[in-house]
This record gives sequence, structure tokens and C-alpha cells, in this order.
Amino acid sequence: MLIDSHCHLDAKWFKNDIPQVIENAKQNGIEAIITSSISPNVQKVKNIINRYSHYVFWALGLHPPGVNSQSVKATVRLIEKHKAEIVAIGEVGLDYYWVKEEKRRKEQQEAFKGFIDLAKKLDKPLVVHARDAQNDTIKILEEEDAEIVLMHCFSGTKLEAERIIKNNWLISVPTSVVKREVHRKMAKTVPLSQMLLETDAPYLAPGRGRNEPANIKISAKKIAEIKAVSFEKVAEITTANARKFYRLDERIQ
Ligand SMILES: [Zn+2]
Repeated sequence: MLIDSHCHLDAKWFKNDIPQVIENAKQNGIEAIITSSISPNVQKVKNIINRYSHYVFWALGLHPPGVNSQSVKATVRLIEKHKAEIVAIGEVGLDYYWVKEEKRRKEQQEAFKGFIDLAKKLDKPLVVHARDAQNDTIKILEEEDAEIVLMHCFSGTKLEAERIIKNNWLISVPTSVVKREVHRKMAKTVPLSQMLLETDAPYLAPGRGRNEPANIKISAKKIAEIKAVSFEKVAEITTANARKFYRLDERIQ
């Protein structure tokens, strides 16, 4: 069995076909999906996790480019309110690709520190987004003593990946590993014992068009090839890692 440890089923590219998407995932051996909502607008994700409880699980965060004082306050309130339902805080982090202005980058850093503290206070794992800001992201996580960390779709340097591994954090490899060299290299560097699989659906498809959780099977095959181990081994270890990180054992039925 496989787990899609990070996607966005509430994105607008998923409309009325969520039942079909879930069915495809089940047909392809996906035993659980973690969907991450990244704005304070959570009605759609709530509908999905209510309908597919024990199969789709909720990580609640805020996309770094969407950080402002209002969105941060609203997200913190939502996290407090739904702390029993959510399996993680995230994705949260830093994005210097979309945000160039120094003042807004500082604002992201402050918000990120707040989310790290909140994750520690509520004892929740943290799912981290770092785009063109890998070094600052790792530095803040280290300074704030973050412990249970998943670097989602990490595409930094080998040195940065090794620092993450040394800190005992996890890295999730996206389905685009089948076509992008940066992720292939990451899959080589990260030991299976610290690796999770993600689609980041609807983004980062292995082929063209919209991505979906069923495609985890494709990336698991590719990673097996890269690591020269069996598909079953990749599935077994990454699934166990995801179950442990998100504490799914008591939630999956
Ligand atoms: Zn994402």
C-alpha cells in the first residue's frame, strides 16, 4: 500500500470528480491521502474530509505568498479550532520565488516562526514549503527547535538535503521525479528511512495535465529504479514513514 503524503484536493482543478479521484487512488493501492489546505477558506476541504474520513486526512496551513496579518490570524484561529481533526500544520514556510520584497519576506519569516511554535504547542507535525528560500527555512527551523518536520517537495542542494537528514527531518519526493532531474537527485540523496511520497496534486504531474493521488504508484516505481530496490520495499518503508509522521495508525480504518 502507498500513501500520498501531500496534495491539495480542495484546489479548483478538482471539481465534482472527487469521488472518481478517490476511487482511482484506491484502485492504485493508495491507503491514505493527506490533503493540505493553504488558505483560511476551508469549507471545501472540510466537506472532503467529512465525506472520506479514515481515508483523506487534513493538514491545515497557509501558502507563504498568501501571508498577511489577517490571513495569519485567521489560520491560527482555524488551527486552534480544528486541532483535534487536523493531522499536521502545513504547508507553511518561505517562498522567495513569488515574494521578492524584503518587507514581505520578513513578514513570512515571522509568520513561519509563529506556526513552528504553534506546532510545538499543539504537538503537531509540521509540513514545510521552501521555494528559493531553502537556507533561511532550514535556519529558522533549527533556531526554533522544530522537531517533527517534513520538507515537502524539497528541491534544495545536496548539502541542504544532508542537513535536513542530519536533523532527523523527512523529505517528500513528488511525482515529478519521473521527469525532473532535481527530484531524481533528491531521491538518490534521501535515504528511504527518511522519505515520503507526495503528488502535490493537482500540481507536479508525472506527465501532462492535472496530477492526482493515484500517480504515487508511478513515482514509487521510479524511486525503486533510482534506489535499485523493489517497488514493494519503497511502498512498505515510505508508507510506514507517513503513518508514523502523521500518526495515522489510530485514524486509518
Ligand atoms: Zn503543496
